[in-house]
Amino acid sequence: MGKTSKDKRDIYYRQAKEEGWRARSAFKLLHVDEAYGILNGVQRAVDLCAAPGSWSQVLSRKLYDTCQTDDEKAAVKIIAVDLQAMAPIRGVIQLQGDITKQSTAEAIIGHFGDNKEDKAQLVVCDGAPDVTGVHEMDEYMQHQLLVAALSIATCVLETGGTFVAKIFKGNATWLLSSQMKIFFKKFDIYKPPSSRPSSIEAFVVCSDFCLPTGYIPQVINTARDDIRILAQKTGSEVNRKLVPFIACGDLGELNEEDDRDTEKPNDEAQYAYDVVMSDAFYPPEFKEIVKQVYEEQLQIS
Ligand code: SAM
Repeated sequence: MGKTSKDKRDIYYRQAKEEGWRARSAFKLLHVDEAYGILNGVQRAVDLCAAPGSWSQVLSRKLYDTCQTDDEKAAVKIIAVDLQAMAPIRGVIQLQGDITKQSTAEAIIGHFGDNKEDKAQLVVCDGAPDVTGVHEMDEYMQHQLLVAALSIATCVLETGGTFVAKIFKGNATWLLSSQMKIFFKKFDIYKPPSSRPSSIEAFVVCSDFCLPTGYIPQVINTARDDIRILAQKTGSEVNRKLVPFIACGDLGELNEEDDRDTEKPNDEAQYAYDVVMSDAFYPPEFKEIVKQVYEEQLQIS
């Protein structure tokens, strides 16, 4: 009898038990590392939405346990954050909090300085909301986490740094991708072999971080802040114009007169695209990136 996909999942489950990982998710990060080498040379990392801690274990084993001397160990900084408490992990500083809250974001940012040698080289986020089963709602909530993680990454990453985050793939993935492409020269969406084929999850792998000239990093919470006010908070023209943060899944609130009547998922994506293209708020540079990513990605979602 051939192996079913369930048997295949058990391989990672069993291997996680054997190797002492707290969750089989560890293999997702290990597979991203195998494919992209994201952990090479990294000493300073942030693990967002970290509980029960298998990604932090990967960071601990690869960045901390491999150190030969106490000085090397002292140079390693791994900050792990989750709503839930976790059992301690060697070399990992834990914070308990909601990453979409300003206070949590500031606590994380407070662990890093402004100089290159004080900034993080890697930010990872495996965040998932409590799944409701209502696909649009789950996707929207997950995108909120992703936007929060991305905004924290813009505050702590060194130039050239890497951001890896779970994304629930949907019809508006291209719009979030557009925003990530503003900050990272390289962008990919990767589905590790350890991620269940039936799951809509995948991972964005963004590398070569580079802040747009004039952009002032800020903590974003699209659920709380109206993006038009928020984009102007820093007083930076570049923030206001170039990076309108949007959590995908519900763009209806952007238009006061929202009279759409969309039935098919592709209508939703088309609607979002039309909003961005027709609204004078979005500058030509952003529209250009959106257009490019929309055309590339709508075919793969
Ligand atoms: N990467 C983890 C591991 O390998 O053990 C698994 C992460 S689990 C899939 C998703 C986590 O996201 C949960 O522990 C949950 O508490 C956390 N989470 C969800 N919303 C959050 C939020 N707003 N702030 C912080 N953590 C959050």
